[in-house]
Amino acid sequence: MARTAVTFLGSGDAFNAGGRGHSCYLVEDALGACAVDFGPTALMALRRLGKNPAALDSVLVTHLHGDHFAGLPFLILDGIYRTPGRGPLTIAGPPGVEERVRSLAAACYRDILRDAVPFDLRFAEWTDNRPGEIAGRRVLPIPAFHQDLPERAYSIRLESGGATLAFTGDTGWSDELVPLAAGADLFVAECSLWQGGYDRHLGSANWQKLLPQLNCRIVASSHLGDDALAHRA
Ligand SMILES: [Zn+2]
Repeated sequence: MARTAVTFLGSGDAFNAGGRGHSCYLVEDALGACAVDFGPTALMALRRLGKNPAALDSVLVTHLHGDHFAGLPFLILDGIYRTPGRGPLTIAGPPGVEERVRSLAAACYRDILRDAVPFDLRFAEWTDNRPGEIAGRRVLPIPAFHQDLPERAYSIRLESGGATLAFTGDTGWSDELVPLAAGADLFVAECSLWQGGYDRHLGSANWQKLLPQLNCRIVASSHLGDDALAHRA
């Protein structure tokens, strides 16, 4: 069984609560490296750890909120200007991901994607509950409860080097959380709130309900807001 390493590049909410970077996870395995989400602080986090951004073969985007994908223009910029010969990069995400990333990139650097970039930039869209292969890894996108249509949010189950990894993006309670984590080696779930008050994020009441039902090796909370951090003990 090949070894898989997961590094938290950030574990904060959209507001960088506690000085934490936006929630983002680096997965390294025998195939290479991918990231789950890529918010504005992700590239900085990679650099701080001495990781090569161009080593990322794919980014798996849970949903199109800025703290989860707005770092992508800088990753693309890095591939164009800082890493000649960069390998292919697949950006996979909810329906409309290519248009949103291209619009965002154009807002940041108007002409950056006007012409072909000097590496193979690909896009792929999630289909509800349909497993697909992204850069050689099996990925299962599971609908999350977080946004109104036409926006779609997902949790992700990822097979990497013999390990099963499960990540919520942002989500409120869903009965899909238990099967999402079933048998996983690592389950990362958001905990934006503590007392709650907003049903499209998880808080303490959800976690108390969820924990006894989980069947996985390691559970980690992430996307921590101020209130959750204040109660982390
Ligand atoms: Zn969100």
